[in-house]
Amino acid sequence: MEDGAKGRRKASVRDVRRANRALLLRHLLLARDSNRSEASEATGLSPTSVTNMVGELVAEGVVVEGGQLDSAGGRPRTIVTVNPDAAYVIGADVGEADVVTEIFDLTMTRIAARSRRFEERRISPEEVTRVIADSVAELLAEAEQVRGPDVAGRVLGVGVGVPGIVERPENLAGCGDPTLEPIVHAQVVGWDETDFAALAERLDLPLMIDNGAKTTTQAEAWFGAARGVDHAIVVLVGDGVGAGIITNGRLFRGSSSSAGEWGHTKISLDGPVCRCGARGCIESFVGASAVLAAWRGPDPSRAGHEMEDVEALLAAYHAGEERALAAMDLLVARLGVALSNLVNLYNPARIVLAGWFGDRIAEELLPDVRRSMVASSLPQPGREVALVRSQLGRSAVALGAATLPLDRFIEQGWPARPRAATDGRVRGWS
Ligand SMILES: [Zn+2]
Repeated sequence: MEDGAKGRRKASVRDVRRANRALLLRHLLLARDSNRSEASEATGLSPTSVTNMVGELVAEGVVVEGGQLDSAGGRPRTIVTVNPDAAYVIGADVGEADVVTEIFDLTMTRIAARSRRFEERRISPEEVTRVIADSVAELLAEAEQVRGPDVAGRVLGVGVGVPGIVERPENLAGCGDPTLEPIVHAQVVGWDETDFAALAERLDLPLMIDNGAKTTTQAEAWFGAARGVDHAIVVLVGDGVGAGIITNGRLFRGSSSSAGEWGHTKISLDGPVCRCGARGCIESFVGASAVLAAWRGPDPSRAGHEMEDVEALLAAYHAGEERALAAMDLLVARLGVALSNLVNLYNPARIVLAGWFGDRIAEELLPDVRRSMVASSLPQPGREVALVRSQLGRSAVALGAATLPLDRFIEQGWPARPRAATDGRVRGWS
């Protein structure tokens, strides 16, 4: 009985220490430059705790102290910064026609990137596995040329953002028990209950998978246009359409992590048949292919060329071509209505228009979309919400995917390596 209580007390002391360390590390990683007193203020931790934990992080090589910051009239403060080469993370953005894989250092500075485009619209999970595994090997080799020979041994993990719903994203792929693996449901690209155990096995690194809209939202919330906003929505408009919803500072997931499938909510009783099989989905009106089809009629031979064709559409729009004007007017009207549904449902303070097509729309037509959104919103939440451009642009998805292993490192510390690949060179791994 007493042993049990003692055990629980020990466990809870450990939990509190881990939570405090996570608070401090999150602050230091996101602030880039800080100092002990600022860290104490930002986290609510006592100056003594901060001093002790900064000491531990310095010993682990995660942060470095050095340089003085003159505070107005007060004592000069020692700057605490994250050591960029303490660890690395890799993020992969699996789009519908391309896979972008990038490696970052611990300050989330991009070191190298690989991009593969596919003519085929439906990339098979096997193809994705092969491309990501090959890209990771190339990225590690390239990063070691720039940052020294220790990069591969210091990778915290690989995060992958995929289209579709990811059930149990919190469980690592290849975690051993197939009943606990994250499962990807992406009908629109033809993936039905797919797991990525094969990729985990090939990578031999911790692997984390989540929906691409959610990883983008995480990137915008940490480093971009949704930073510091407790109630924000990041909408991703590409060929597909999705959203990530932040309420009370946390990503809203729903009961099995499918929340945010805004692209498949309906704005019409009939309308075209969506890739999900239903009619009237937002995606089938405001996705890039849908808008291009409204402009010049459906043209399957142009599948895979949406980005160039959107540029042609915008050029025609600016030249005053009648069909282009009509297509863009319809897009503004429908996107405004679709966004107003988010405004009325979630009362966000900010909506970030992201995704490759969303970013182009925002660049060209943000005030028009805002007007259209406000016109369909209830007056009070409509007045309060700001509609803004993404700050990270296209790079947000891979960056967001790379925040998955980073977040895990913040919350749980160094990962257990799935193999003895580090030759004992690296401190901190169990
Ligand atoms: Zn749909």
